[in-house]
Amino acid sequence: MLVQVAEGIYQLSVEFPFGMRQMNSYIFKGEKGLTIVDTGSYSEQSIEIWKRALPAETKVEKIVLTHSHTDHIGLARWLREQFQAPVLISRLGFDEMQKYHRKLQNYTGSDTALYPFFARHGGPFVQEKAMLEQVDADYFEPDELLENGQEVELGDYVFQSLWTPGHSPDHFCFYNRSSRILLAGDHVLNEISPLIPIWSEEEGNPLRDYLESLEKVAELPVDVALPGHGSLIYDLQTRIAELRAGHEQRMQQILEGISRHGNTAGEVSQAVYRFDNMSFRHLAEFLMTLTRMLYLESEGKLRAEQREGKIVFRLVG
Ligand SMILES: [Zn+2]
Repeated sequence: MLVQVAEGIYQLSVEFPFGMRQMNSYIFKGEKGLTIVDTGSYSEQSIEIWKRALPAETKVEKIVLTHSHTDHIGLARWLREQFQAPVLISRLGFDEMQKYHRKLQNYTGSDTALYPFFARHGGPFVQEKAMLEQVDADYFEPDELLENGQEVELGDYVFQSLWTPGHSPDHFCFYNRSSRILLAGDHVLNEISPLIPIWSEEEGNPLRDYLESLEKVAELPVDVALPGHGSLIYDLQTRIAELRAGHEQRMQQILEGISRHGNTAGEVSQAVYRFDNMSFRHLAEFLMTLTRMLYLESEGKLRAEQREGKIVFRLVG
């Protein structure tokens, strides 16, 4: 169950029957007990995996979270209770959780109201209240908040936290220079290109943030990167170059796929990813296309305009 990936560092593959379906937790052995990094989603299946991997009497020093997505924090409350251990997340991560928590508490719309940000961009119909309830189901108050650049003890190692926004505004990697190990979270993955989503205008330009965050980790000497999903990354720089090239290629397809009179991000995502009907199944393709189009707009290659309640992008020049 626990697979050793480096001296004193073990990986636990946590499976669950929905969403990403699998997440890598990392467990660091230390004098004061185990430190767990990321939890998996809340499900019976994942809880069974944890129970089999770590007996109830296991001494757990703390639980550290890379970012506030459900597959990384979903079992934080359960693990805290099970092992009587504190939970640490970045201040930005707790800000994100509180933002959705407050939105739900102050929600005055009807149960069936659609999420307006997606509707404006021609995206799938998603009920706003149900979405907020889903995000808020993982809510908890952390025991300690981490800052960017802070030293964090993980087992007998000392890692440095490194803010890497893009996949989420609150995403952190953790880096140990002497062992050249990067705890990568969902910042760099081997099998897939990490989703770079946007949930509201306030988030600005997540793809720009992401590409800048890739630069930050590309500069680091790394022998192995431990990702939040899939296999270990031994050639981080090559993988980063592939991810950059993938975004460039898709952005070229977007520029070629836009019609003369302009299109919504929803329409362009259907052209680029070749599907007929926009639905929740295509949320990821829609979100990736939208963040790429916002990036192209910031580069002066597209211009956004309002048309009949929708936001339409046109080629510049
Ligand atoms: Zn994530």
